[in-house]
Amino acid sequence: MEHVQSLRGMVDLLPQHLALWQRVEAVARAQFERAAVVEIRTPLLEATQLFARGIGEATDVVGKEMYTFLDRSDRSCTLRPEGTASVVRAAIQHGLLSQGPQRLWYSGPMFRYERPQAGRQRQFHQIGLEFLGAASPRSDVEAIALAWDLLEELGVQGLTLELNSLGSADDRAVYRQRLVAFLEARRDQLDSDSQDRLARNPLRILDSKHPDTQALLVEAPTLFDALAPESRVRFEQVKAGLAALNIPFRLNPRLVRGLDYYSHTAFELTSTQLGAQATVCGGGRYDGLVEQLGGAATPAVGWALGMERLVLLLAQANPVVAPAPDCYVVSRGAAAELEALALARDLRRLGLRVDLDGSGAAFGKQFKRADRSGAAWAAVLGDEEIEQGVLRLKPLRDPGLQELSFNLHDRAAVAALVQP
Ligand code: ATP
Ligand code: MG
Repeated sequence: MEHVQSLRGMVDLLPQHLALWQRVEAVARAQFERAAVVEIRTPLLEATQLFARGIGEATDVVGKEMYTFLDRSDRSCTLRPEGTASVVRAAIQHGLLSQGPQRLWYSGPMFRYERPQAGRQRQFHQIGLEFLGAASPRSDVEAIALAWDLLEELGVQGLTLELNSLGSADDRAVYRQRLVAFLEARRDQLDSDSQDRLARNPLRILDSKHPDTQALLVEAPTLFDALAPESRVRFEQVKAGLAALNIPFRLNPRLVRGLDYYSHTAFELTSTQLGAQATVCGGGRYDGLVEQLGGAATPAVGWALGMERLVLLLAQANPVVAPAPDCYVVSRGAAAELEALALARDLRRLGLRVDLDGSGAAFGKQFKRADRSGAAWAAVLGDEEIEQGVLRLKPLRDPGLQELSFNLHDRAAVAALVQP
C-alpha cells in the first residue's frame, strides 16, 4: 500500500530539529518576560473576513495565499496567514484596549499557499510582538530593539536592519499618484505581476523581485520625498532613537512591507546568508488597523519573525543537541522489569532525567542502547539484584569511575550520585 505523505509545504519537525527550536522559544520567552511583554494565544482558524478587512484584498496574502474553506455550516473560514489581525481582533473583542496600552507577544504556526522552497513553506511559524496603544516614535525604537536584541542574544551574525518610513495615509496617497504616473509612462517595461499591481496595489511594485522592474525603479520617485514635514520629524526621531541604542540601520526607500495597514516606520531584518528568502523579521507601525477592524482608533507597532529562517541561520552557526539522560535503566526478568519502572519513576520525581529501556532484550543489547543514549550512568536490575536487594550503577562515560552498588530502596543515594 502506498504511504500517505505530508502535504506539500507542510513540514515535520523531528526530535533532532527541536532542540534548536526550543532554545529559540525559551530565549524569546525570557526576553519578553524581562521586557514586561505578555503572551497571547489566538485560534488558528478565523473568519475569512478578518483577514480580508485587516490585511487587504489587494495583497498577495489575501489575494493568492490564504487557505480558505467553508465549514459545515457554510461559514467562510481561513487558517491564519499571520498573527497581527487575530491579536487585534482579540484585543477589541475582550476590551483589552480600554485597559491601557497592551504589550503582547505570540508564537505559532501560520499558513500561506506559496511555492515551497528553502525558508518558504505553507505552514510556517512566527514569533511576533504587538504594542497596541503606543504612539510615540520611542515605541517603534523599543519594538525594533527587542527584535534586534533577541537575534543578537541567539547569536545570529551579519544581520542588517533596513528602515523606511511609509508616512501617513495622506503622504502615501500623494506618493501613490507620483509613482503611478511614473510607472504608467513605462508600463510596457514592467513585468506582468507589476502591471497587475499598478491599478490594485502600486506600492507593492517597489519590492518586486523582477530584475527589469528593479532597474526601472532606480529612477522612480521615492516615498521619502512625499513625506509631510511632521512625518519627516517623526522619522528623524526614530532614527535618533536607534542611534542612541547603537543599533545600526540602512535606509531603504523601497521597503514597503506587503500588508496594507502599515504607516510610518517600516523595517526588516535581513541576512545575506538566506538567499532569496533574506528577511528574517519584518514589522512596523500599523496605526490604521484597529479602527479598520472596528475598534477605537489606536496607534500600534509590531513585528513578526520567521522561525524557519531564523533556525536556518542558527543551524549553520551553532548546532544545539538535546541533553542526554542522567541515567539509563536496563532490566531483565519479570520482577526486575517492574522494579525498573518504579525506580525510573522515583528518580524522575527527584528531578533526574531517566531513560527506561522497556525492550526486555538481552542485557548486551540494552547496554548498547544505554551507551548510545549519552547517559553518564546505567542503572542495572536483573534477577540477581532483586534477590539481593541491590542496584548496580555502571559508569558509561568516565573510565575513571568504578561500578557501585546501592541499597535498592535508597533512591535518594542513587539520585545524589547520578545528579549531573
Ligand atoms: P516574504 O517577502 O519573504 O514573502 P512577507 O513580507 O510575506 O515575506 P511577513 O508577512 O512580513 O512576510 O512575515 C514576517 C516573516 O515571516 C517574514 O519575514 C519571514 O521570515 C516569515 N515568513 C513569511 N512567509 C513565510 C513562509 N511562507 N515560510 C516561512 N517563513 C515565512
Ligand atoms: Mg510573502
